[in-house]
Amino acid sequence: MSLIENIIRSDVRALAAYHVQDAAGYVKLDAMENPYTLPPHLQQALGERLGKAALNRYPVPTYAALKQAICSKLGVPTGYDIVLGNGSDELISMVSVACAKPGAKVLAPVPGFVMYAMSAQLAGCEFVGVPFKEDFSLDLPAMLKAIQHHKPAITYLAYPNNPTGTLFEVAAIEAILHAVGDQGVVIVDEAYQPFAETSFMPRLPEFPNLIVMRTVSKLGLAGIRLGYMAAADDLLAEFDKVRPPYNVNVLTQTTAEFLLEHVDVLDQQAVKIRQERERMSALLKSWSGVQVIPSHANFLLIRITAPDLSGSAVFERLLAQKVLIKNVGKMHTLLANCLRITVSTPAENALFEAALKISLQP
Ligand SMILES: *Cc1c(COP(=O)(O)O)cnc(C)c1O
Repeated sequence: MSLIENIIRSDVRALAAYHVQDAAGYVKLDAMENPYTLPPHLQQALGERLGKAALNRYPVPTYAALKQAICSKLGVPTGYDIVLGNGSDELISMVSVACAKPGAKVLAPVPGFVMYAMSAQLAGCEFVGVPFKEDFSLDLPAMLKAIQHHKPAITYLAYPNNPTGTLFEVAAIEAILHAVGDQGVVIVDEAYQPFAETSFMPRLPEFPNLIVMRTVSKLGLAGIRLGYMAAADDLLAEFDKVRPPYNVNVLTQTTAEFLLEHVDVLDQQAVKIRQERERMSALLKSWSGVQVIPSHANFLLIRITAPDLSGSAVFERLLAQKVLIKNVGKMHTLLANCLRITVSTPAENALFEAALKISLQP
């Protein structure tokens, strides 16, 4: 046996490395990034603030000031605390590790965010995916049946969902929270909350098993890696034990505190993106050969329906025109011929629309 075979878990060896396309020279619409940067006066003020940050010190271990700012500015209900993560990906990993009793299961509707299954597997939990209905709405009877059968320790609901952009019905989420009861936690992942204008955050007091997870990534700060989750104190205390020490660095902490003082700037960027999403989706709906799935996020999921044309062919044609989107057609059978496009600036969106128009020609 080789060194690798001697030491690396077979399930890890079997994993394919996460492939990220090199985007240099492309209109980059593949990763749900906010296209807008900070206005120059804020860039300068942030630079000064970062210059004064205590880089020689470990972060304050409680992160009290940053947590306080997040709770007060981002709508965490009074009496609720948060745990911070190096992106919400790290929070997903922390919850998976903390809940990984022998035989523990993790459940989510599919197709969904790939890290739910990945983190579950790495933590040694079994992942159970429950397919959506054809229109990407929740199959509530199937979800409830799976919950009863598998008794998942963790159930994820991305609200809105990635890669579909759909919002689940509030009553369906409530039914799932009740069905899970004290057998598990339900994580409502609100990564796209700034574009959805709805949230389960205010509902925390009603559900002791509810965790509301968010990130600042899609809001315009993907580079700083910061996520947070709010839940009842007794749950958070357990998750905090598996949090790596000092997992949020001083530069991230300082940047986040600064931007929360100017959160209106990010909110306005989100408004522009929502407007563009509505304009683009109306435009693409008027074209033949594409179906547009109604989106509540900062991306559009479309399906190529033109005869003799596949989603992959359109993806390649766009790539040849230097437009990079995400080909999700192979992720799940329900996503056949589907493509996911991040909503960007009006100028970049126009480049995409022109390239797509050409790509749809037979
Ligand atoms: C992007 C995304 C995340 C991860 O966000 P990070 O904070 O950047 O790690 C979590 N959940 C969903 C549904 C996402 O799309």
